[in-house]
Amino acid sequence: MAASTLIDSFGRVADDLRISVTDRCNFRCVYCMPYEGLKWLKREEILRFEEIQRLARIFVEHYGVRTIRITGGEPLVRANIEELVGMVASLRPDLDITMTTNGVLLGSKAQRLAEAGLKRINISLDTLHIDRFQEIARVDAFAKTMAGIEAAEAAGLRPIKLNMVVMKGVNDDEVVDFARLARDKGYEVRFIEFMPLDGDGIWRPELVVPSLRIQESIEDQFPLVAAPEARPGPAVKFKFADGAPGGIGFISSVSQAFCDTCNRIRLTAEGGLRTCLFSLRETPLRDLMRSGVSDDHIGRVIESAIWAKEEGGALQIGTEGYVKPEKSMSQIGG
Ligand code: SAM
Ligand code: SF4
Repeated sequence: MAASTLIDSFGRVADDLRISVTDRCNFRCVYCMPYEGLKWLKREEILRFEEIQRLARIFVEHYGVRTIRITGGEPLVRANIEELVGMVASLRPDLDITMTTNGVLLGSKAQRLAEAGLKRINISLDTLHIDRFQEIARVDAFAKTMAGIEAAEAAGLRPIKLNMVVMKGVNDDEVVDFARLARDKGYEVRFIEFMPLDGDGIWRPELVVPSLRIQESIEDQFPLVAAPEARPGPAVKFKFADGAPGGIGFISSVSQAFCDTCNRIRLTAEGGLRTCLFSLRETPLRDLMRSGVSDDHIGRVIESAIWAKEEGGALQIGTEGYVKPEKSMSQIGG
């Protein structure tokens, strides 16, 4: 039984924790990372597995966090990541542990991750064209990524969710193809609006394709019906009206920010607690933890950080008041 919940001053309860395990990546997606020039964290700056497990335990046992997503950077480039999955899974049998990955290393790791306790997975895939894949991810890895998706399915990581960041003039002509893939394979495809968190500073409002436009294009071919969820989350979800398998979701961070129901918090690879993707501040937990303080002490610091969660960082995108965080998506942990 959790001793308490993490509540902010606007009454939102934080129960979904995203843990970034590395700032490094084997891709260089144009909407996320610069091709070169990012300064990597040093090994000693990154939380060790025991430290991640300790913080995860505080969140789970003291504050009732029920979903933990392992992310990055690319989580699968962190050595022995399945060991960490097992350590987090051991905290509570019913913990919902999931991962966001570019999928390229899943061919060799999916089975071990599933055995370690990973329950679900989101795999990022922005195009179904091999040449375009290389233009977006800036790595020649289309075939390996597709094989990784198959491997995740074979390992029983269900449902398979695919994350597609839709950019105008880059891949928005493929949204119906992705809906067809969802139907054919029974995947859940999440269309994500391009957010101004890219390392190269290429974001422009004109590059954002609003979710409603994507939905219209899909519904011209495949009518959708709303699939409401018991627990409100950021994705607005739909099923196919004709009963085909799979589903569609929209993460409309730019056109319809979901800040008023946001239940997410984030831990960066170096142990910074972030209350919002767009936060301009972070609460550093690593050095506090390394100084030898008690779990209760760390808990009090976490509670006050969450209490101060901003009303809505995404609400200001596109206005003059928007200030881009210093860190890009791969350094925050998407
Ligand atoms: N490397 C893993 C991956 O790509 O799935 C996990 C980390 S990545 C930062 C997490 C998610 O953020 C991915 O689905 C990615 O597509 C998304 N993302 C990255 N930059 C983004 C941006 N500027 N706008 C919207 N989504 C973005
Ligand atoms: Fe790497 Fe994921 Fe960012 Fe692409 S989106 S560069 S795979 S961290």
